[in-house]
Amino acid sequence: MTAESRCIFCAIVAGKAEASVVHRDELVTAFMDVYPVNPGHTLVVPNHHSEGLEGVEEEVGGRIWAVARRIALSFGRAGILAEGVNLFLANGAVAGQTVFHCHLHVIPRHSGDGFGFKHGVFSRGRPGRAELDEQARKLALGLG
Ligand code: AMP
Ligand code: ZN
Repeated sequence: MTAESRCIFCAIVAGKAEASVVHRDELVTAFMDVYPVNPGHTLVVPNHHSEGLEGVEEEVGGRIWAVARRIALSFGRAGILAEGVNLFLANGAVAGQTVFHCHLHVIPRHSGDGFGFKHGVFSRGRPGRAELDEQARKLALGLG
């Protein structure tokens, strides 16, 4: 059995598993999350199976972003409470990924909804500029 044949999101893309589809095109599919953080919580996935970011080409990634953006901007018109929106992608189990077909969450947010990261911006340490510059230099080299 291949990863694709066992993958629930591949089954949704293929129309073989139940889903409430918002958008489908030749590159990506968007559908409602069955355990929404808030009403309107949508997932945007590449149509081809890839566990994580490494297998998602830039063109497909760009389409994922474009569709997520359009969904985020449509919440108000759809009557979905969205004082703000989070776009969220968990790449790897340690980052919180539980379904191993890459997906971008589009999460409508409102005050008091209780969703969030456990670290606030100001509870983290602030490295010196030299350390940030060094990390930026290494990352830029690695971009290729
Ligand atoms: P993550 O933890 O980032 O991998 O998120 C996986 C998301 O997929 C969760 O928010 C689940 O609620 C959602 N999910 C799992 N199975 C399904 C399904 N069959 N249809 C729609 N959403 C699903
Ligand atoms: Zn898949």
